Amino acid sequence: MLTLTFLGVGAAFAKRNHNSNALIEAWRKGPDHQEQPDDLLLVDLGALGPRALDELKDKPGFGYLDVGGRINYPAIRRIFISHQHADHIGGLEELALTNTYAFADPEARKGFKPQIISSINVLVNLWDTSLKGGMGAIQGRHALLQDYFFILALKLDKRKHEGFSLLKRYRFDIFPTDHIQVERKYDWPSYGLYITDTRSGETVFFSGDTRYDYPAYSRMMEAAKVCFHDVQLFDQPDPVHPLIHELQNMPAEIKAKTILYHYGDEWDTGPFDFVDGEFKGFAVPQQRYVLFE
Ligand SMILES: [Zn+2]
Ligand SMILES: [Zn+2]
Repeated sequence: MLTLTFLGVGAAFAKRNHNSNALIEAWRKGPDHQEQPDDLLLVDLGALGPRALDELKDKPGFGYLDVGGRINYPAIRRIFISHQHADHIGGLEELALTNTYAFADPEARKGFKPQIISSINVLVNLWDTSLKGGMGAIQGRHALLQDYFFILALKLDKRKHEGFSLLKRYRFDIFPTDHIQVERKYDWPSYGLYITDTRSGETVFFSGDTRYDYPAYSRMMEAAKVCFHDVQLFDQPDPVHPLIHELQNMPAEIKAKTILYHYGDEWDTGPFDFVDGEFKGFAVPQQRYVLFE
């Protein structure tokens, strides 16, 4: 079984629903039969991610994320980074430094190192222009990204996208998203995930942050049993997320299986009540969605 739990479902600067980061858990038997998953993948950890993890660890079924009342960071063995905005990476320094200092193996004098996964261009920029400032030195020496993480750098080929797997059964392929354009499409790296259960052939689409680009995603969204798509609720010229009325242009059968996330704090003020009928609804934070049985 593969499950997805949003740590939060909020837009970048939302205050009510934390950042849109997700915990994907892979189970041989399932959460009713196991205390913790056999493998997992955290999709991004934003500035509000540690606060969200701190809340999630107290929820029934997530006790493995708790150790002595604190976040059990070493339980998070793999992290995928979609892109470099702070609502997706702002919690990494806390995770890495806590793993290095608080969860160090006292005999080996080595910190715990999870795996970090993204495209090579995201990982290079992540270190050089985001993380290096706070993490470039640890007590007694300089440090590099590989001092904190085992690095899985994915190459993007025009014909074939590289991916990775959980439990050798659930395949994750990354695809570029049209989130921010400096001069042209795809020139600022940003990725979504297309997840396949290789046993059943079923798939799930996870947009990451993107502008409205249904033509680019339609083949994946048509094939997927469920789609998770970011959304922006307020109008704006030249937005970097899909406006709700842009997503309304998608075919009815696509909307019916699409769950909207990354939404603003105004989602429940009335004007967006139609979402529950027209789409599969707004994503609910800190609740397990079963992706594949
Ligand atoms: Zn975002
Ligand atoms: Zn973003």
